[in-house]
Amino acid sequence: MPFGNIKENFPILDQKINGKNLVYLDSAATTQKPNEVIDSLNKYYKENNSNIHRGVHTLSQKATEDYEEARKIITNFIGATSSKEIIFVRGATEAINLIANSYVKPLLKKNDEIIISQMEHHANIVPWQMICEEKKAKLKIIPMNNNGELIIKELDKIINEKTKFISVNHVSNSLGTINPIRKIIQIAHQSNIKIMIDGAQAVQHLEIDMKEIDADFYCFSGHKVYAPTGIGILYGKKELLEKMPPYQGGGDMIKSVTFEKTIYNDIPNRFEAGTPNISGAIALGKAIDYITHIGINNITKYEKDLLNYATSKLNKISEIKIIGEAKEKAAVISFIIEGIHPHDIGTIMDSHGIAIRAGHHCTQPVMDYYNITATARVSFAIYNTKKDIDKLVEAIKKCIKVFV
Ligand code: PMP
Repeated sequence: MPFGNIKENFPILDQKINGKNLVYLDSAATTQKPNEVIDSLNKYYKENNSNIHRGVHTLSQKATEDYEEARKIITNFIGATSSKEIIFVRGATEAINLIANSYVKPLLKKNDEIIISQMEHHANIVPWQMICEEKKAKLKIIPMNNNGELIIKELDKIINEKTKFISVNHVSNSLGTINPIRKIIQIAHQSNIKIMIDGAQAVQHLEIDMKEIDADFYCFSGHKVYAPTGIGILYGKKELLEKMPPYQGGGDMIKSVTFEKTIYNDIPNRFEAGTPNISGAIALGKAIDYITHIGINNITKYEKDLLNYATSKLNKISEIKIIGEAKEKAAVISFIIEGIHPHDIGTIMDSHGIAIRAGHHCTQPVMDYYNITATARVSFAIYNTKKDIDKLVEAIKKCIKVFV
């Protein structure tokens, strides 16, 4: 299907907001869902709903098969070595908390250090702060420059014998920067340090292959890659996951339980305590099938074209300042307009039927760096077109006329 027609596959986009055809430019917050994903949820609850792994009856076996099939789809999608390396979680936030608590915390001693970057989402800051506080360890920060690019040579200076772990994002949600994760992973491994990559803003835009990038842990949220909320993926190298203690206790993560002793299950089940989001996992598999069919490299190319088009159009408006001008960017543009608060920009765009985001985007340290409190942010996905961008630009021009 040509990209221009993809919108038709997303029923939510066919509606009016404030009397105008909806233009959805907030996909970095969450993507809309194609019919394939919605139909999968519908089918699951109409035909197959049942609990997994524990039932001998047909529905339970069918639900288990579909759930495990989704795990295989994701294994192939990210180029993992085995489906045992794929753990279903609630989202990127839960994945990072899991690694912080099950892998890193047991390693940490007083005065040890964990490295993150200046442009992390709060989800990749707070869990590390929490364990640092508990273990009296320290958080070290890879700084960035004014373009919104990490200053990688500083990482060499920060790493030392106290460094126990590194966690950085693949793509920044507030700046759009694509970080050089291969280089960062290489630097970490040269010093024998394990590393996690937060791919919440990457997998929907870029091809990734775990064998090629060699990350120890990688995570993403389903809802940002055309799947439902409440489901996400933690990838971990098998040899690391196998040595890790469980994060949560409960059903399905055990082999046997007595009051004296519990034997934990093997991976990945050891990290999936309790009834998981079965329909969400299956629908995530469908979402991945959907974008794989379009071709992730085609998506990268198409979105890059949208990004370049929007960037050049917005740059022509003299009142606009784009925040984040890295050489390598995904389809995210943050901007400010002097004299108009980003929330007002967001409200006025909404009156034109255009959904954008305004705020700190859960990256307050990025806002502090630029000495601002918020930006307006537009982000693009496969269903957006240049016409959407034209509408945005027209609405922004009107907004400036009223305010400035
Ligand atoms: N990391 C990044 C870079 C993100 O953009 C987000 C979501 N905005 C998260 C982590 C957290 O994802 P979730 O809220 O889906 O767990």
